[in-house]
Amino acid sequence: MHLLYLDDAGSALNADEEYFVIGGLSVYEAQAHWFTQELDRLAGTVSPGSPDSVTFRASEIFCRRGDPWRRMSREEAHGIVRAVLDVLQRAYGSARAFACAIHKPSCPGRDPVEVAFEDLCSRFDRYLFRLRGEGDRQRGIIVLDDSAHQTTFRRMSREFRTLGTRWGVLRNLAETPLFVELRASRLVQLANHIAYAVFRRYNSGDTNYFDAIASKFDSYDGVVHGLAHKQTVDPDCMCIACLSRRSGQGRENQMPLDFGQEDDRWGGSRRSE
Ligand SMILES: [Zn+2]
Repeated sequence: MHLLYLDDAGSALNADEEYFVIGGLSVYEAQAHWFTQELDRLAGTVSPGSPDSVTFRASEIFCRRGDPWRRMSREEAHGIVRAVLDVLQRAYGSARAFACAIHKPSCPGRDPVEVAFEDLCSRFDRYLFRLRGEGDRQRGIIVLDDSAHQTTFRRMSREFRTLGTRWGVLRNLAETPLFVELRASRLVQLANHIAYAVFRRYNSGDTNYFDAIASKFDSYDGVVHGLAHKQTVDPDCMCIACLSRRSGQGRENQMPLDFGQEDDRWGGSRRSE
């Protein structure tokens, strides 16, 4: 089974922020234990007496909010965010990062949570479809942070069977999404950091964390399918998501089914309703 752990960064409603992001990582079920061990070990360096009391939540660590982060220097705290992301960097190649960054002013009248969640469900489904073509017939489950945009996520999960059919994503997902508490899952905590790294890349132009994980986004045939940048303001955007799609356009016909039909621009609909 492939598990896609997701969390969000940025606020869907805060007008001071231009971006809202959902992001995370896909791992084999057998790989999940390794991630937990590595992050437990890191927690042990933060709080040797009680590693279980350490919860990695990127925005709190970055801003040094709450214990034990408020007692750290800025450099120390920022180093912890980086150390969490480095666990993904060290992982086997079958662990892939996924994220969708929504430029909120580019989609007026639409709920960015819904847009990003739909995008990631179909992105994950297409990833599993591609693995199927390579002989891996395992299916996937999405695991979400229980606290993040709970109302929207829960509603969409309840309606998943219907929405999934409309989006055409039910072929490779085995179950409706599951919810776990961030505190209880190291993998959701890592997903939280991936979403935060992408949020800082697009919302603040800070590429420090993003660059550490950029090579882990799912890529195929030169296109970074694991990352979507939904915006209408910059047709020449040089981010790896936009750039790789523009340069990949000429090779569309060589891509497997579904990928060639992908349209990540607003205004073009990739499904007919
Ligand atoms: Zn872009």
